Amino acid sequence: MTTTQQELHPAVVKFLSNSPKKMLINGEFVASKSGKTFDTINPATGEVIAKVYEADKEDIDAAVKAARTAFEGEWKKVTPKDREKLLNRLADLIEKNAAEFAQLETLDNGKPINESTFADVPLSVDNFRYFAGWANKIHGETLPVSNGNYFAYTLREPVGVVGQIIPWNFPLLMAAWKIAAAVAMGNCVVLKPAEQTPLTALRLGELIIEAGFPKGVINICPGFGETAGAALSSHMDVDKVAFTGEYITGRKIIQASTGNLKRVSLELGGKSPNVVFTDGDLDAALSGCIGSVFFNQGQVCCAGTRLFVEKKIYDDFVGKLSDRVKGIKLGAGLDPSTQMGPLVSEEQLKRVTGYLDIGKKEGANPLAGGNRAKGEHLDKGYFVEPTVFANVNNKMRIAQEEIFGPVVSAIPFNDVNDAVFQGNETTYGLAAGVWTKDIKKAHSVAKALKAGTVWINCYNVFDPCAPFGGFKQSGFGREGGIHTLELYTQVKTVWVNLS
Ligand code: ADP
Repeated sequence: MTTTQQELHPAVVKFLSNSPKKMLINGEFVASKSGKTFDTINPATGEVIAKVYEADKEDIDAAVKAARTAFEGEWKKVTPKDREKLLNRLADLIEKNAAEFAQLETLDNGKPINESTFADVPLSVDNFRYFAGWANKIHGETLPVSNGNYFAYTLREPVGVVGQIIPWNFPLLMAAWKIAAAVAMGNCVVLKPAEQTPLTALRLGELIIEAGFPKGVINICPGFGETAGAALSSHMDVDKVAFTGEYITGRKIIQASTGNLKRVSLELGGKSPNVVFTDGDLDAALSGCIGSVFFNQGQVCCAGTRLFVEKKIYDDFVGKLSDRVKGIKLGAGLDPSTQMGPLVSEEQLKRVTGYLDIGKKEGANPLAGGNRAKGEHLDKGYFVEPTVFANVNNKMRIAQEEIFGPVVSAIPFNDVNDAVFQGNETTYGLAAGVWTKDIKKAHSVAKALKAGTVWINCYNVFDPCAPFGGFKQSGFGREGGIHTLELYTQVKTVWVNLS
């Protein structure tokens, strides 16, 4: 492996030297039972970073068995206070190795090193700490029953063995979102990272051992969706599956879950409206729009990809936006001056460039970008130009379908009602943005938009205490905050006869 941008961190070199990378099952790193491996690719260069053992049905079976044994055995004996300590220790270890994690994430996913350093890694640490705190704070209630001489109370119990299937856009952060809450509530986990980006989850696995979690509590099995993912979501001894990814895959997960009626939570895609009113702080809105679409190369489920601009300022605002977007510096994520990296994979490059062609055929006008990016340092990687499409209407495919790339469709609107109507004219409902200085307008639009999160005069702000999830076909279940605990606990009612 080569990298021209920057020397790799010695810990990254050491981690990668030991290839093929093994999966974590029952507290040990093991090869796949089939011996099969797959390559994980550096999207900035197309080069192989490492080989990874590929989990298949048999490996998933072994991981689920280990999780079940831990759940019914050792893990039950660990007190809430000790679960809190273990999760905090894991957070400390990630923080101690933050620079290594950031580099590994950038290498595997392509995102700019500044984003992995200042967003992915610290948010992952925060998430482990936040849910660590819940381990000894969630509790049942006593019930004011009227029905005879009884005492009744509830217990909050873990669900059991949880399968967690995550995407490639925020590999470490998604692992943290999923694992922290489940483990804090006393569940055991089998995590399947995305096949494109398995490395930081496997490094996390090393720290899980170092932190002292009992064997089998957290198992990490990289593999493909149709094999390992399907095996996990259809497994008869998995009590719950939590999934983040495309809505089409979400439908398959629900179908696969019916065998034992396992619980399902889904965090799916979006086509989020970002609404700019004439009376907004337009400079702030401009920067906010850029962040909302081009952060992480646009590979963000809540990206504000439908930009609604009030008609009076549409041409001016979209023109300024395009000028700014033309200046975004593309390059390998490891180069600290890079503002936008490559897409994660060749498949993703094909998908996004396919939508660029569709947009042009539909009559949209690419004011900025519109093509695969070219250049000496870009040709081997999966780079695409950051793109602003003007002349878009809300019925076009580029306004209705999730592109999952750095492409914004700018659509004019007349007034508040029109903005809300068009904003809601989508099958998705994950997030939305509103830019206005009028406090009444801001809150009434936030209320009227059908979305799980609305940002007013900001975008893409996250905190572990803030629930995140979708309305409509963006899924169900909330991750973040107290609502996550619902996903990972079940309520038991106990009646005591006092007569
Ligand atoms: P993308 O197309 O952007 O990769 P996916 O929804 O396909 O999004 O992938 C998200 C996660 O779902 C990945 O870990 C992937 O391996 C997994 N996955 C894909 N297909 C299936 C499936 N049929 N069953 C279970 N998991 C799947």
